[in-house]
Amino acid sequence: MLNKSFKFLGWVCSIFLLILSITFITKEVSKETINNVPTNASSLSKVHFIDVGQGDAILIETDEHYMLIDAGENNQGTTVVNYLKELGIKKLDYVIGTHPHSDHIGGLDTVIYSFDIGKVIMPDVVHTTKTFEDVLDAISEKDLKITKAIAGTTYSLGTTSFTIVAPNGSDYDGLNDYSVGIKFVNGENSFLLTGDAEKLSETEMLHNGIDLSADVLKLGHHGSSTSSQEDFLDEVQPDYAVISAGVDNSYGHPHVETLQKLKDRNIEVFRTDLQNTIIFTSDGEHITVNKEPYSITQSDLSRATKNNSAKSAKDKSKNSGSTIVHITNTGRKYHVAGCRFLKVDIEVTLDEALAKGLEPCGTCKPPAK
Ligand SMILES: [Zn+2]
Ligand SMILES: [Zn+2]
Repeated sequence: MLNKSFKFLGWVCSIFLLILSITFITKEVSKETINNVPTNASSLSKVHFIDVGQGDAILIETDEHYMLIDAGENNQGTTVVNYLKELGIKKLDYVIGTHPHSDHIGGLDTVIYSFDIGKVIMPDVVHTTKTFEDVLDAISEKDLKITKAIAGTTYSLGTTSFTIVAPNGSDYDGLNDYSVGIKFVNGENSFLLTGDAEKLSETEMLHNGIDLSADVLKLGHHGSSTSSQEDFLDEVQPDYAVISAGVDNSYGHPHVETLQKLKDRNIEVFRTDLQNTIIFTSDGEHITVNKEPYSITQSDLSRATKNNSAKSAKDKSKNSGSTIVHITNTGRKYHVAGCRFLKVDIEVTLDEALAKGLEPCGTCKPPAK
């Protein structure tokens, strides 16, 4: 009799445990499913295209989470740090160095030393400049490591997210095509930021199966004609385009060809060179901007690129001690950043290049004295 009661008790206990474990498993499964469902949650997000002269520095903020993409030239590090501090930022969840050119990563070391940093994302390419080494030193001194950008990877930022869309290859002639491109999504709104990606990388993005459509496009390579090809613009179909460039820069950015393509497509244009810092606010459905769109004038479009660079070169000749050009160890020419002949890239001033007896490259047409 006693034996029978025990058996009964044992049976009740097993059933109870079975029910308990089923409930537990179901709970676990449903929790995971929720995590995997792409929530179309939206928050109030802001995307700041910070005016750093010729270069890029873009801050994205959402639910008090922050990420910074590039930080302008070396002398712009403090500008960027002060801008972030004024917003009360203490930690950057992500820092992206799109590619090793100084107009993108120059100020990054100063930024990395000044804030708590989550993840540092960079492309899988190295460079031999002091600027690049300074960034690596800052990363190692803060005990951080570099997360290599892998196209297709999605990261969350508060309730929003961003996906790496470039680079899609691992061997390019110029550093620009190594640029880390991201698509930031907040509910129905999206922003496509492509660093200095040129036509080759754009073509790869068009073929990698990622949805490139976006409300806002930061034009590749400061509005250069070597980026923003027609197919790419037609696939992204942005309502707004942002050009991050310096006033009267020696490269003639943005180029006439690019402005013409934007005008033909009725894309509203914002320019940091003429309008300073541009701030977009997105509530997940609507986007507002802190400035009126720039109206492209007839003279913008008739201005030949040739005249433009001649004029800039003249301006720069007053100032060749602070103009940066790029050279290799052995070459007889000096170049503009990103020129395809720059297998090794050493930054020097125009004066230094001229003192070495170097000639301007006929392909990339850097400023002359
Ligand atoms: Zn650049
Ligand atoms: Zn570049």
